[in-house]
Amino acid sequence: MPTTTFDVFRYQPDLKDVAYREDFTLEHDDELTILDAILRLQNEQDGTLAVRYSCRSAICGSCACKSNGKTVLACMTQVEDAKAEVGGERIAVDPIGNFKPLKDLIVDMDPFWDKFKSVKPYLIPDGPAPEKERIVPKEAMQKIYNEAKCILCAACYSECNSLAADPEFVGPAAFAWGYRFAADERDGDRKKRAKLYSGDHGVWDCTRCMYCNERCPKGVDPRDAIEKLGGIAFQEGVTSDKGARHAQAFLISMRTQGKLNETLLVPYTDPIGAQLDVPFALRMMRHGKAPSPFHPKIKQHGEVKKLLANVKETI
Ligand code: SF4
Ligand code: SF4
Repeated sequence: MPTTTFDVFRYQPDLKDVAYREDFTLEHDDELTILDAILRLQNEQDGTLAVRYSCRSAICGSCACKSNGKTVLACMTQVEDAKAEVGGERIAVDPIGNFKPLKDLIVDMDPFWDKFKSVKPYLIPDGPAPEKERIVPKEAMQKIYNEAKCILCAACYSECNSLAADPEFVGPAAFAWGYRFAADERDGDRKKRAKLYSGDHGVWDCTRCMYCNERCPKGVDPRDAIEKLGGIAFQEGVTSDKGARHAQAFLISMRTQGKLNETLLVPYTDPIGAQLDVPFALRMMRHGKAPSPFHPKIKQHGEVKKLLANVKETI
């Protein structure tokens, strides 16, 4: 039988002011999950070990935690697989990231729920209610199939770099829900939603690190939803904030020159801020640290234009 040492994050504010780590060792069969291991430790070794869980079937989303630094659902991760990933007989178990720990593996989820509520995660129908029901073609629902799979486990939120830098960032899960309703053809508030999701701490503040897609246990791909919300903002004409202008500058640069004109990105994205930075930019140019804004078109400019047209057709 395998033996595993669990190096567990402990925080017991009633007993001690500071967090600490504690090793527990278990002999177990090959199929033990991390959640089962934690529950065995709780039953057999330390009844004060606190963990949140419910369904034990990867449905309720409540047992997310970190295993060797990666956020997982504890109930769908086998101990032997987690060990094989890093090599060795130890597993570090921590609470999910970007949250304040309350006790051991339990965190304060309030900010997550507040942001979830802030995106209006419900249908806001257009026009009077139908007599019976609104029929939606299957193909229309297919567009939001991925996002509708979200179980609100917060694994994506735990891994999000933008949230680590800006705790007010709305976050990947809430935006996945935002897209789920913004793209629902029964919803009548698309433009208002596009405005709500843009601006400070909004969709354009995502760093595109893709960790949310990588760690989501349900294949929701929240980063893709954020990208599609950016597309909806453009379709609805919500393009005045810096993030949208930055994206537009990319597009203009590709259309006109076939490559990225980095020097023009700054004034296009932030015209006022860029004026203040002109002396600095000129000094950089003089020292060869910034490319000239006057690029010639690349030779394959025609090919780039064709590519852009293809992309436009597919979205
Ligand atoms: S998007 Fe995925 S990782 Fe994020 S809350 Fe939903 S199911 Fe969990
Ligand atoms: S891609 Fe964006 S939303 Fe997803 S984890 Fe990275 S910064 Fe956060």
